Amino acid sequence: MGKTIIISNRLPVQLQIGNGSITAIPSVGGLATGMKSVHAGGDSLWIGWSGLTDEEIPEQLVSDIDKALAKHGSSKVNLSKEEVDGFYFGFSNRTIWPLFHYFLEYSEFELNSWNTYKAVNQKFADAILEKADDDDTIWVHDYQLMLVPQMVRAKKPKIAIGFFLHIPFPSYEIFRTLPWREEVLEGLLGADLIGFHTYDYERHFLSSVRRLLGLEVSFNDIEIDSRTVKVDSFPMGIDYKKFSEAAEKHEKSTSEDLTDLQQRLNSHKESTPDAKLILSIDRLDYTKGIAKRLNAFEYFLNKFPQYKEKVRLIILAVPSRSNVPQYQLLKKEVDELVGRINGDFATVSWTPIWYFYRSVPFENLIDLYTSSDIAWLTPIRDGMNLVAKEYIATRTDKTGVLILSEMAGSANEMNESLLINPNNFEQIADTLYKALNMPIEEQQSRNAVLQKRLERYNVEKWANDFMNSLQDQKARDAANVSRRITEIRLNGIIDNYKKAKKRLLFLDYDGTLAGFHTDPQKAGPDEGLYKLLDALSNEPNTSIYLISGRDKDTFTRWFLPRKYNMIVEHGVWLSENGEDFRMLENVKNDWMEKIRPVLESFVDRTPGSFIEEKNYSLAWHYRKTDPDFGNLRATELATVLTSLIGTDDLSLLSGNKVMEIKSSNVNKGRASMRIFGEDDYDFVFAIGDDWTDEFMFQELPPEAITVKVGSQKTQAKYYVDNVNKVRDLLSKFVE
Ligand code: UDP
Repeated sequence: MGKTIIISNRLPVQLQIGNGSITAIPSVGGLATGMKSVHAGGDSLWIGWSGLTDEEIPEQLVSDIDKALAKHGSSKVNLSKEEVDGFYFGFSNRTIWPLFHYFLEYSEFELNSWNTYKAVNQKFADAILEKADDDDTIWVHDYQLMLVPQMVRAKKPKIAIGFFLHIPFPSYEIFRTLPWREEVLEGLLGADLIGFHTYDYERHFLSSVRRLLGLEVSFNDIEIDSRTVKVDSFPMGIDYKKFSEAAEKHEKSTSEDLTDLQQRLNSHKESTPDAKLILSIDRLDYTKGIAKRLNAFEYFLNKFPQYKEKVRLIILAVPSRSNVPQYQLLKKEVDELVGRINGDFATVSWTPIWYFYRSVPFENLIDLYTSSDIAWLTPIRDGMNLVAKEYIATRTDKTGVLILSEMAGSANEMNESLLINPNNFEQIADTLYKALNMPIEEQQSRNAVLQKRLERYNVEKWANDFMNSLQDQKARDAANVSRRITEIRLNGIIDNYKKAKKRLLFLDYDGTLAGFHTDPQKAGPDEGLYKLLDALSNEPNTSIYLISGRDKDTFTRWFLPRKYNMIVEHGVWLSENGEDFRMLENVKNDWMEKIRPVLESFVDRTPGSFIEEKNYSLAWHYRKTDPDFGNLRATELATVLTSLIGTDDLSLLSGNKVMEIKSSNVNKGRASMRIFGEDDYDFVFAIGDDWTDEFMFQELPPEAITVKVGSQKTQAKYYVDNVNKVRDLLSKFVE
């Protein structure tokens, strides 16, 4: 197995330049910790930006920096200030970040930053390609690098690529406002595995893929260019041990070991023993709902005035992206709100809010977590929210109450906390009240469950799960590829064809010889196809049958003058050597009167769908409907029809965006077997793309060469990618 290459915007290393020399200090963030097991030993490499622009790196230190980074298994992508501005502060943080967090009004759609984003993504991809071998595994992280998977795939089609999005993926209604939405989706689909924190983000992504790219999605697999992309959710955990052990150590520390902050927290507790501490920690970001939280706190103090002097809110706001205007405005808003609320409510011995605008070292984080009775986290939208998990991990005696916004990804896994809607002040005030009065036993029983889960599904498990899933996906794809018709295999098939004395070929039409069209009547044969079929029909000792679910009138028009052999309506009608169609199966159609009104009611209620009426079957087409809605209605129709046709000799076929009701004794398998039985054939070939063709694949004798178009699940022996490949293959027979 090859090496692992991890790619993220920032390297897990901080560079510090001082006195003409350079030091590289490993970061301690969640991702760096989680990747420890992946990024270990000599067979892994982390590629990213160092945090210093080209302009900030003195010429004479360039090689020292590379060496210092190499010691940490890292390699940097060089970015100029202009590139960082357009790619990171621009497109990533002013377009994608607000849009994916549902702050549509903050999203800027600037062509220049998009172009820089593309160019910088290409730089990252090139940096990977420079180091990558075919058997390596690539893991790309986050919203800054969404085009990288496709850029790498274009040059290395076989390499294993995983992508993980650390922020939410918005609903289709939001995502579609992005001018470059298709490019972003296509960029991501270069990966073999795409991971999200929650199932909601996953289904939003799948919905966008279906609606914007029109791709088929089955469960969580997407078929694209004969590859399967798997989409799944992997909720990111924390380094549980690090937090719980730090908290245990903190608990045992003597008074001399205490930090300044802890001493102050203690003296506050001593002076007001019945006052409770409420903690909130976030980056100062508009997604975190800090201003709303302050307003909600004021609302709480007005609703429950008995808590004046009995609670204190600690707000730790970590500076973030302070050169983006919205963040500057937010800072001003929060500063003013804290000032006003403190001014309105403070007494000589009590200030309701302690506000810190800074980041604090790890020891102080532990001081805050372990000293607070309540953690109160109210993001308006948050991909995950690790602070919530960290708070719970530090509660060694299992006391403490977590109040968490249901808009945070972590809320999905933290049901035992008190979940709130950050816009509902009434609910928030009541929940604060409930938290302040929650009996210790209840706190402990809730936290026991939470801790157990967080300890088990920690960040290392998350990383390993993702990597294992990526390897599985790659193996699955490889197994599939093994059935693909390769050059060698094709030569073997052609050899057999040439050697055979009597040949029989069944060719499905739609999706096999011709592509799909939203209007089936427009998907008629082109000149190239006529030429190919003419050539095949003229082959000596060869019987070619077009075999289709289509009605006989259409095929009469298209093909009868050419005297091709045809089986239509799945096997009801047969025409050979230019003769009129005759019935191959004796079938009834008196059931149609009963079924037609049911289909009509579905047409009325499903915009874009329509009925196709054939002599002996009825088909409900839904290719032009909204894809999700169409699938939903198809399921509903199947249920209704199954109960209706139960006693009749009817069966329901679900094809590619079509449901067809027809006699049970008619299918392509039965029809092709009748033709096969009429002579001694020593070369039998069948090709088709959908469910109705599976009957042929199943029933024809085992020595038949059966080929599926597309790599979906099939009974066929082989597959080819698409209509063009089908035509290439067939033209080899007549070369
Ligand atoms: N954090 C930190 N220093 C601080 C305050 C917080 O390193 O002064 C850390 C905190 O421990 C947590 C992370 O910042 O791991 C915040 O992660 P979260 O998922 O809550 O929010 P994000 O900032 O990723 O949106």
